[in-house]
Amino acid sequence: LEQIDALSVKSFPLCMRQLHRALRDSHHLRHGGRMQYGLFLKGIGLTLEQALEFWKKEFIRGKVDADKFDKGYAYSIRHSYGKEGKRTDYTPYSCMKIIMSNPPSQGDYHGCPFRHSDPELLKQKLQSYKISPSGITQVLELVKGMHYQLACQKFFELTHDVDDIGFSLNHPNQYFTESQKLLN
Ligand code: SF4
Repeated sequence: LEQIDALSVKSFPLCMRQLHRALRDSHHLRHGGRMQYGLFLKGIGLTLEQALEFWKKEFIRGKVDADKFDKGYAYSIRHSYGKEGKRTDYTPYSCMKIIMSNPPSQGDYHGCPFRHSDPELLKQKLQSYKISPSGITQVLELVKGMHYQLACQKFFELTHDVDDIGFSLNHPNQYFTESQKLLN
């Protein structure tokens, strides 16, 4: 868990960093968030056993007891790893899917912050991540033009101190892999 805390700050795109923070703060995520974040974690290499441990550890700190977790939530985690039901091995969501479908409502933390956050809140968030004022202006301009993935790409460049990442960003897991390549 602590390892994921550190990774989330360094190498997670904003959408996943937001989900991780919400999970750590409230010890819970609603279905849309669990799917989006759970499949992302699967994509970065969490095994089924690690995923069960990860979610359980956090959920039982909140309102869910171990028994309820094992009977309910554990099933859907195994399901997303293709171990239940139709045994479909689900793949992590692309940016396009996150941006275009299932918009978050009140109490949800899934979605793409560049697409779904109020611009003022997004600005505050970027400030809290110590992005420079000119960087924030550039990101918000792209958001205004509805270039959400380019805004995310700009955020990547600003936080990794590179001028041009040299690829076009279309998947949260790609964001993670590219970030890890640069940092390691
Ligand atoms: Fe996540 Fe993609 Fe949005 Fe970036 S553009 S925050 S990776 S959904």
